[in-house]
Amino acid sequence: MKKHIKSSWAEPYRMKMVELLKMTTRKQRQKAIREAGYNTFLLKSEDVYIDLLTDSGTSAMSDRQWAGMMTGDEAYAGSRNFFRLEKAIQKFYGYKYIIPTHQGRGAENILSKVLIKKGDMIPGNMYFTTTRLHQELAGGTFADIIIDEAHDPLSEHPFKGNVDIQKLEALINKYGANRIPYVSIATNVNMAGGQPISMKNLKEVRALTKKHGIRIIHDMTRVAENAYFIQQREKGYEKKSVREIVFEICSYTDGATMSAKKDALVNIGGFMATNEWDVFEEARNLVVVYEGLHTYGGLAGRDMEAMAIGIEESVSDNHIRARVGQIEYLGNKMMDFGIPVVKPIGGHGIFVDARQFLPHLSQDEFPAQTLAAEIYIDSGVRTMERGIVSAGRKPNGDNYYPKLELVRFTIPRRVYTQAHMDVIAESALNVFEERKKIKGLKMVYEPKYLRFFQARFEKLK
Ligand SMILES: *Cc1c(COP(=O)(O)O)cnc(C)c1O
Repeated sequence: MKKHIKSSWAEPYRMKMVELLKMTTRKQRQKAIREAGYNTFLLKSEDVYIDLLTDSGTSAMSDRQWAGMMTGDEAYAGSRNFFRLEKAIQKFYGYKYIIPTHQGRGAENILSKVLIKKGDMIPGNMYFTTTRLHQELAGGTFADIIIDEAHDPLSEHPFKGNVDIQKLEALINKYGANRIPYVSIATNVNMAGGQPISMKNLKEVRALTKKHGIRIIHDMTRVAENAYFIQQREKGYEKKSVREIVFEICSYTDGATMSAKKDALVNIGGFMATNEWDVFEEARNLVVVYEGLHTYGGLAGRDMEAMAIGIEESVSDNHIRARVGQIEYLGNKMMDFGIPVVKPIGGHGIFVDARQFLPHLSQDEFPAQTLAAEIYIDSGVRTMERGIVSAGRKPNGDNYYPKLELVRFTIPRRVYTQAHMDVIAESALNVFEERKKIKGLKMVYEPKYLRFFQARFEKLK
């Protein structure tokens, strides 16, 4: 009898155009990274072979999206593409009122200014760099309520994005609901390694916040990836489509901020959404100050059109299965090589545990920053630090010392091939074999905000 073979994750698209890449030598890369202050954010993109710095704004748009760009209505007010976008968000996410913004942090700025007052606490399932900074700039304090497993790179908990309900309850009891304008829930928690929250947990958060009259604001940047993990891992959701699961997730929240540069498959764009008229009204006033009129929010009409189409494409089961499948392929290959990666494998990239990789470096010698630079030198693969540099400083000036010291290999959507994944894993292995010889870094320039973007380093002797 013929055995049934489960088909692989292969891409539900084919290529119509390719972008040629520059190949460099090791010597050229050593010079380039030195000149970039050992910060992969400061490299020239031209000097990079496979760019895994981020999955933000780096997706390949579809032929439909490109065609949609041609239908941009560039009127200053009331562009038809705005109404297309509004409709897509209402249809696929279910939020009532929307405000486009130039990207996610534009939405975070406005939302934080509308909802947070000085002295407020904002509980969330792990911080995100720009999200927390806008909360702090608005006078609030972020409080981490994610389960402890999320901070343990070895834990194989299937839902490391879950909220620890006891931590949340304790916080509400301590500060009172009046000082908590909302609970911030990220889907597929970026800083935990692209890890999902379960529907069951989200419902529990909803029940508790409802009891206290506290909103949930959804950082929905990677909601489709989270929905896919729920479909794969959570009982009762096996037969549901990603589209249905995405809609259900949103239904337990009161509003959202979105960086459409991630799951929504565009190169620029974002939005804020809310189900509350008052919040919408206030945000609509503010968006004019910071972004642009409320029917374009810093975007061209064509950008809003591409986003409307991208939202629809992003919730397709075939798309997301191939997306996550490619990442699992890379992660499994690295694990076979013995490279310490965060488990379970996340939705948008592979997170390598730099503490385990370079155990001879202390956190003040920037192990993740060091490892990202070494991988670039080896192969021209550009990754990013997610450790002490990204964590930055507290409002009082002390360093945050995060438990996780990770190098993020973020995979752009619909851009690279399986052979590229092989090259990436092989490069990680090359560096792993030479790891004992690797020296750390010292920081020689530190910007005031979001230092990881522009900080400069020198190699320790
Ligand atoms: C990227 C991101 C943001 C910020 O969005 P930008 O478009 O980069 O401004 C916010 N939250 C999460 C979880 C993100 O990954």
